[in-house]
Amino acid sequence: MADPWFDTSPTAAWHDATPVRVGISSCLLGESVRWDGGHKRNDFACDALGRYVEWVPTCPEVGAGMPVPRDTLRLERRGDETRVFATRTGRDHTTSLRRFAAAEARRLLDSGLSGFLFKARSPSCGVFRVKVWNEAGQPEAAGRGIFAEAVIARDPGLPVEEEGRLHDAALRERFVERVFATHRLHSLFRGRASRGRIVAFHAAHKLQLMAHHQTRMRALGALVAQAKQMRPSELRERYVKGFSAALARPATRRSHTNVLQHIQGYFRKRLPDGDRRELGECIDRYHQGFVPLVVPLTLLRHHVRREGIDYLAGQVYLEPHPAELMLRNHV
Ligand code: SF4
Repeated sequence: MADPWFDTSPTAAWHDATPVRVGISSCLLGESVRWDGGHKRNDFACDALGRYVEWVPTCPEVGAGMPVPRDTLRLERRGDETRVFATRTGRDHTTSLRRFAAAEARRLLDSGLSGFLFKARSPSCGVFRVKVWNEAGQPEAAGRGIFAEAVIARDPGLPVEEEGRLHDAALRERFVERVFATHRLHSLFRGRASRGRIVAFHAAHKLQLMAHHQTRMRALGALVAQAKQMRPSELRERYVKGFSAALARPATRRSHTNVLQHIQGYFRKRLPDGDRRELGECIDRYHQGFVPLVVPLTLLRHHVRREGIDYLAGQVYLEPHPAELMLRNHV
């Protein structure tokens, strides 16, 4: 069976030899740039995912001119605004950090990133529930780091995650799936994407889209069907937006079960009774939470290969990211 992700044939609609580039807070790669002169090396990023992506590191605090080691920073609410101050000296770093953050976000995103992995809880890099001190001097877990904010504002569709949340198997799988999908999408539109290539891309991603958002999958199908009546730039803009929004919605055990049963339908007249029963039971066991997603998928891939069903063999859903990461062994 063709491996949808590593398919290097020139016929693959999204084939592109460029590496999957992902931004990352430098300290997660083991760079000693933290306020205390240390780092926060993340093993999954360095040892596992790092084999398949090219990390693009940046430390916004060092980039904005702060030394290592340095005073810690904290976000403070001042009226309608959130500003960033040195905790000990009270020095206001808001202007320099914001200026660097905006320029760096532009530089990195213009260079072509497919995602960003941020350091959690940082007043510069944190994405979710970063502490902000209110005017009464009380911390509230309600903010976002200055740099993370700049990156997300520049590309709201970019897959972003914090390193701490990658301990959650479902969030980890979801982030990596979106990173690889974004890379394929960028590859499709790098240079001139013909309408034929867009149609092929959409066909190969149909089941993946179905697992995330059926309504958007259908809307994208309708968009692709009208491709001839649209300017290429309009088609590109609408397809990229719709595709990213579809994958941003998490796939659930129920929606995966729906896709697995959809695939099962292709074997109704092809498999002997015993094999069909085994497949149905396997999907049921996944649906009930007794086995992870990799179990029914492995069985389906086996039947797809044996029966030589080209449409299914070309579905990215069957292998949306490198199998060696074993991300679907835990969801
Ligand atoms: S600013 Fe970001 S990259 Fe730099 S040390 Fe803090 S969390 Fe790490």
